[in-house]
Parts: sequence; C-alpha cells; structure tokens
Amino acid sequence: MSYYPEECTHENSFIFIVDSNTENVNLLIDLFQGTKIDCEAVSDGFEALDKIKNRKPDLILIDIIPPGLDGFQLCENFKNNPELKDIPVVFTTTKTDSQYIVKGFESGAGDFIIKPYDSAELLIRLQTHIKNKLHYDELRLINQTKNKFLSLIAHDLRNPFTILLNFSEILYQNFDEFSDEKKKDYLKYILESSQQSYDLMENLFRWARSQSGIMEFYPSRINITEVIKEYILFTKGYVQNKNLNVTFRADMNVFVEADRNMVATVIRNLLLNAIKYTKEYGKIFIETKIRNKFAEISITDTGIGIEKERLDQLFRIDRKVKTAGTNREGGTGLGLILCKEFIEKHGGKIWVESKTGEGSKFTFSIPLAESR
Ligand code: ADP
Repeated sequence: MSYYPEECTHENSFIFIVDSNTENVNLLIDLFQGTKIDCEAVSDGFEALDKIKNRKPDLILIDIIPPGLDGFQLCENFKNNPELKDIPVVFTTTKTDSQYIVKGFESGAGDFIIKPYDSAELLIRLQTHIKNKLHYDELRLINQTKNKFLSLIAHDLRNPFTILLNFSEILYQNFDEFSDEKKKDYLKYILESSQQSYDLMENLFRWARSQSGIMEFYPSRINITEVIKEYILFTKGYVQNKNLNVTFRADMNVFVEADRNMVATVIRNLLLNAIKYTKEYGKIFIETKIRNKFAEISITDTGIGIEKERLDQLFRIDRKVKTAGTNREGGTGLGLILCKEFIEKHGGKIWVESKTGEGSKFTFSIPLAESR
C-alpha cells in the first residue's frame, strides 16, 4: 500500500460556516465560487449543532460571537464529539486581543483569521487546513489497515507455533516408546510447520522492507522471457510431483525495464500458486503479450479457482484470504500482497480472473524497456 501526499486534493471539500452576518457569508460564498469548495452557512450556534449532522464537513469556520452559543462553546462542543473532533475549526474575528486568541486556541481552534481579511490569504489558509486534514485522515486509515494486518499476521503465526510446540513436546516425552515410523510422522509435521512459519516471516520481512522504503529498487533492461524460463525450471520438481503440464508460449524475447529480483519474486509466487491450487494432471499456461508500452504476463491454471466474493479481497492487506493447496500445501496469504506492491512500484498493474472449479488467470503488466 502506498501513500502519496501530493495526491491529497481539496476536491469537493465542504466548509461549514457559522456566522450571523449575511454580508460576511455572501462574501465567503463568492470567494468559494470557482474553487472546488462547497459550503453551507448557519447563523447561530444551536442551529450549527443541529445542521452539522447532515453532512460531515472538512472544515468549520466560526465567527467568534454567533448568537445562541458563543464560538468558544461551540468549538468545545465539536471537539468533545468523537465524530467531529478531528475536523479543523477556524475562527474569524475582529478582536485582536490576545485574551480572545488564547481562549480560542484553548477551546480547540486550529487558526484565527482577523477581519477584515485578505480574500486570497483566507482561501489559501483554509485550503491548507483542509489539505492537512485529508492527509491526517489518510494516515489514520493507513494506520488502521496496518494494525488490522498485524493482528492477522500474529494470528497466523500462532497456528504453526502451536503445532511446533505440541508435536515436539509429544515427541520428546515419548521418544523411547515411539516407533521410527511414528517419529518420522511427527518430524514431518514439525518440518512443515517450521517451513510455513519461515515462509510467513520471510514474506513479512520483505513486505516490511518495501514499506519502509529500504528495499533496493534497481530497474534495468531485463529479458523477462528468460526469467520465466528460469522459474519454470526451478519449479520442475513440484510440477512433476503433481503430474502437471506447464506450457509457455515464448515465440520471442520480451525485454522490460524492471528490478530483476522483484519481478522474479512475482513470477515465482504466481507460478507456485498455480501449481499449489491445481489438482494432479492439471494444466498451467504462461503467456507474454505486448500492449501499448507494457508487457503483460499471464499465468493461467485449470485449478480450483477462487470464489467471486473473495476475488476483490485478494490483494488487500486488511483482508486475509488463505486456502490450503490441493495437496494440503500451506500458505502465508501474503504472496499476492507482495506481488501487488512490487508491480505497482514499477507503475504496472496486477489482476485476476477466476471461476471456481475451472481455474484462475493472474496477469500483471510491466513497462517495456526502450528498444535498442
Ligand atoms: P498463499 O498462497 O501463500 O496463501 P497468496 O497471497 O499467494 O498466499 O494467495 C492468497 C490466497 O489466494 C490463497 O491462499 C488462495 O486462497 C488464493 N489463490 C492464489 N492463487 C491462486 C490460484 N492460482 N488458484 C486458486 N486460488 C489462489
């Protein structure tokens, strides 16, 4: 998941104005015309408390002394409301004495604008507050998503560790009584669980590195046809184990501008998944196509497929989709998240088409290298 602060815009932002002076309000309405700011104005504090429920604003602009409830009380009221507390409040006032200003900030205001104000300055100040608020909202969402993700990972780590602890303890306690065959069975469970936790940690480690920006990203001109062939060779053992048939139509060499390690990780993950989720004697097709300035690589299998409802949850870090393979192979549920992260880093896309019982087709696009 990426965060691009410059993408925060104040498109369709909404300002809620509390001001009893119609002339002021009209000036503000004129000022916002031609910008992407909508506004609604109310003339007294009590009305404000009622009307604000209709549409949550991105900023609240209060004249310091509206009738009914004064501006400070109103601001405190908003700040005590969990639904509204993060919305910036800006006061407009003719009073310049510091006693008022301090009181306003204490009540939770984010800024003061002294009247008469310069329109351009007012507009830029409001837009800056809105932009900061949107950044804050986005960061909060990212944080929530990451927390959810961490709790899913912690949960996933517990399962293999429970198996490791229980089985090694049983083996240790009964070592002298168990037959060699039984010992071997227990060791097999321990080995599989260790492998599963190791894979999970390895994927988690890569994901964390790519998130924190410390992962090396060195795009260069690479022959992706060769990389695919390399991984077909690498997975030969797994393919033979399940008697699968892998076909790669490689009539030409395709060159892309990409980080070799990242692209190799994506191909490896998609190919291993195709193998994992396809039953014995099934088929896997790999294809490269050129579309506009991108190479499109697709890996299609005749495997178990994915239910429609789960498809759009596959690449999300706050949803964990995990199924055991057709030979009960374990998984981390992190591979596709990594693939998406790596492909998007190149400006490409990754998507999936699938039908339960018929198979899946995973495709990713990656920029072509300049021809030489
Ligand atoms: P893992 O395979 O390690 O569980 P992934 O992130 O690679 O993690 O995949 C997440 C889930 O997506 C899998 O557990 C499985 O439910 C589904 N999936 C991925 N690839 C395929 C495929 N080729 N066929 C069917 N299901 C798949």
